[in-house]
Amino acid sequence: MSFRDRPIRRKLTTIILLTSGAVLLLTCAAFFAYELLTFPQTAVRNLSTLGEIIAANSTAALAFKNQDDAKEILAAGEATDICVNSPIMYGGWHLLGTARMGTDPDGSVVNEWGRSHDVKNLFIVDGSLFVTSGGVNPTSTIQALALYVADQMKQRLANLFD
Ligand SMILES: Cc1cc2nc3c(=O)[nH]c(=O)nc-3n(C[C@H](O)[C@H](O)[C@H](O)COP(=O)(O)OP(=O)(O)OC[C@H]3O[C@@H](n4cnc5c(N)ncnc54)[C@H](O)[C@@H]3O)c2cc1C
Repeated sequence: MSFRDRPIRRKLTTIILLTSGAVLLLTCAAFFAYELLTFPQTAVRNLSTLGEIIAANSTAALAFKNQDDAKEILAAGEATDICVNSPIMYGGWHLLGTARMGTDPDGSVVNEWGRSHDVKNLFIVDGSLFVTSGGVNPTSTIQALALYVADQMKQRLANLFD
């Protein structure tokens, strides 16, 4: 039986169902698009907050060489292999961090993807981006950051210098 020949009650039911379905689909699509658009910013905001909380909590443990507190912070971050090897009196010290990475221009030289806060077409990709590494070798971190910054530049080509 064609739609035209169906009783009016069936027609109305079908129309209402189709309309509700379409509204539901549009709502889902809107929610999905919203999540898709806002997720990266939300994730960055949450991770930055988390990073700041961890940094603030770590300061006292480091300053007072409190290994128990330090281990607790690492365990809260789900670290599995926590080794205590401190203080490294005779370890090598690679001095780094002269162009520190950060979101705040007052406390850092480059932003969170390596671009100078002051000079928009200047990128720094080396050991100066992160803090002095104590007794741990820095080259793997330098390499990882080089890949990260290069990837960020690639993704932001359209408005790299804005
Ligand atoms: C003896 C020694 C052993 C080390 N062993 C290890 C190790 O085993 N594992 C580890 O992880 N790390 C090790 N390091 C540390 C590691 O090598 C450095 O931390 C790392 O290379 C720093 O990388 P970078 O890119 O920041 O600087 P660099 O590797 O120093 O690169 C800077 C570059 O800039 C160039 N440059 C400087 N001025 C100018 C200019 N005006 N114009 C153009 N170019 C310029 C320099 O020639 C150089 O090529 C060691 C360091 C030394 C000295």
